[in-house]
Amino acid sequence: MPQTHSESARTEDLIALMPKVELHMHVEGSLEPEQMFALAEKNGLRLPWPDVDALKAAYHFKDLAEFVDLFIQGTQVVKSAEDLYAITMAYLQKCHRDNIRHTEVHCDIRTYVDYGFPAEMVLDGIGGAFADARRNFGITGGMLPCFIRHLGVEKAEEDLRLLAPYRDRILAVGLAAVEVGYPPALFKDVFARARDMGIRAIAHAGEEGDPDYIRQAVEDIQVQRIDHGIRCLEDPVLTAILRERRIPLTVCPFSNVALGVFPRLEDHCLPEMLSAGLNVSIHSDDPAFFGGYLVDNMRGVVEHCGLDIHDLVGMQYNAIASSFADDTRKAALRAELDAFVAEHGLAVNRHSA
Ligand SMILES: [Zn+2]
Repeated sequence: MPQTHSESARTEDLIALMPKVELHMHVEGSLEPEQMFALAEKNGLRLPWPDVDALKAAYHFKDLAEFVDLFIQGTQVVKSAEDLYAITMAYLQKCHRDNIRHTEVHCDIRTYVDYGFPAEMVLDGIGGAFADARRNFGITGGMLPCFIRHLGVEKAEEDLRLLAPYRDRILAVGLAAVEVGYPPALFKDVFARARDMGIRAIAHAGEEGDPDYIRQAVEDIQVQRIDHGIRCLEDPVLTAILRERRIPLTVCPFSNVALGVFPRLEDHCLPEMLSAGLNVSIHSDDPAFFGGYLVDNMRGVVEHCGLDIHDLVGMQYNAIASSFADDTRKAALRAELDAFVAEHGLAVNRHSA
C-alpha cells in the first residue's frame, strides 16, 4: 500500500537517523562536479567540459563502459595524496551528516601508477582521510583497492606486487570496471596469490555479466562479497548457493538504473532478491554520477520498489555482518542499530536469516 504523506516524511527522517554501513562506494565516484573543477583549477588542468553544467549534462550513460570512460577522465584532476584526501574527506563528511558509521571504499592504484604516481600516494591520501574521520566523527572503515579488469591480468599481477608491502593497510582486493569480456576466472591466479598473502577478495560480478560471472567469482576467486550480483536471479541453482552460503551481495539501485540495467527503479529486482532470502544490502556505488548517496538510494527504494523502513533495517543488519569490521566493532555497530530499532519501535525484516 502506498505510504501517506506523514508516513513517508517519518520514513525519510528514520532513514537519515538510522546508523548505517556502506560497503560499495568508489572514492572517485563521490567526486562532485564542483570539486572536480576546483581540483582542476588548483592543479592547472583544463577539463574537456567548459563548466559544471556541461559536465553534469554529460552524465547520461549508455552502459558501464561509457561511464568508466568518463569516470577515468575525472581521475586526471588528482595530482597528490592531498587531492585524494580532499575527495575522500568530502565523502566522509557526508557520511557524518547522514549517520554512516562504517564505510569501506573501493579505490584503484593502477590509474595513478599509470599517470606516474606511486601506489603509496593513493593509500596515504585515502587512508589519511579515514584516520581523521575516525578521530573526529567516530567513523570506521577502510580501503578496497580494485584491479581494473579491462586492463588485463598482467596489470592486476603488478598491482598486487605493488600492494603487497601495504597489505595491512587495506581490507581486501577487488575487481572493477568494464565487466563483460573480462570474467573473474581470468584473474584466478592473482586472487590465489592475494589469498596466500592473507588478503581477502571481493569482485564486481553479475551487474552486466551473466550469472556465470557470479559463479566464477564465488568458485574460482573465492570472494567474500559480490559487488552487485543482481543477475543471479536468472539462475536458480546459483541463487540457492548464494543463499545457503550467505554470500553478501552489495546492491546499488541508482547505479543500475543510471547504467541502463533496469529502465526504472520500479523495475529493480531488489524485492525479488529479498524474497529469495539473499544476503543483500544497499549502497551508492558512484553517488556523484548516479544521482544520490546512500540515503537517497534508500529513499528511492521505499518510494519506487515497495520496500519499507523495516526492510531497510533488516538490510543494515546484513551490511554490518557482511563488513570487514572486526568482531568488537561489529558488535558496537549492531548495538547502535538495536538501540535505534528499540527507540523508534521498529520491526526488523530479516529476509536472509
Ligand atoms: Zn562498483
